[in-house]
Amino acid sequence: MRVLFVDDNAMNREVVKGMLLAAEVPMVEAENALMGLDLIETDQFDLVLMDLRMPGMDGLAAIRAIRARGDEKADVPIVVVTADNGHDIRAQALAAGADDLLHKPVQMQALFDAIGRALTRDGSASAMLA
Ligand SMILES: [Mg+2]
Repeated sequence: MRVLFVDDNAMNREVVKGMLLAAEVPMVEAENALMGLDLIETDQFDLVLMDLRMPGMDGLAAIRAIRARGDEKADVPIVVVTADNGHDIRAQALAAGADDLLHKPVQMQALFDAIGRALTRDGSASAMLA
């Protein structure tokens, strides 16, 4: 189990990294979308956590770029992590190809519930323990 978190805010990355490490889940971080896309190109992840508002390419564009890949990496589970409370933000994220959306500040239980759902895509968290 290996997670990539793309977020321009270092504090957000640290908080989520701490939560994941508590469950012994290693997290690789990227501070912008292009770095994230590069890491997906060169590395292997079981799940991507994606901020939406970032300088340069935003999270929705990054998700579309991942889904447009012509290989198996295009299918990586993606959970959006955002402070954006716009009424249609979840619909936008899902339309871009995200599996789920979490609001900041991230709560640990909500994080693991969302990861479990995204990994299994059937509502079960059992894959977290694999
Ligand atoms: Mg941001």
